[in-house]
Amino acid sequence: MRFPDVDWSCDECFTYLNEQPGFTDENGSWTCTSCGHECAVTADNILSEEAVERAEQWLSNFDPNNYPQP
Ligand SMILES: [Zn+2]
Repeated sequence: MRFPDVDWSCDECFTYLNEQPGFTDENGSWTCTSCGHECAVTADNILSEEAVERAEQWLSNFDPNNYPQP
């Protein structure tokens, strides 16, 4: 594993990839065993802590009432 500390999840179905049988990040991509989506597992796909923090902040401020359904 190149990134042993990274939690990978499928771009398509958000399944936790790390616990899928045979999962490895060595090839730079992994085909999700749940939906068959080929997920990139490279350093480019790791969110920086700052980006995660910003996303969490955005989510905590998210108010669905500001986004009325059409
Ligand atoms: Zn998937």
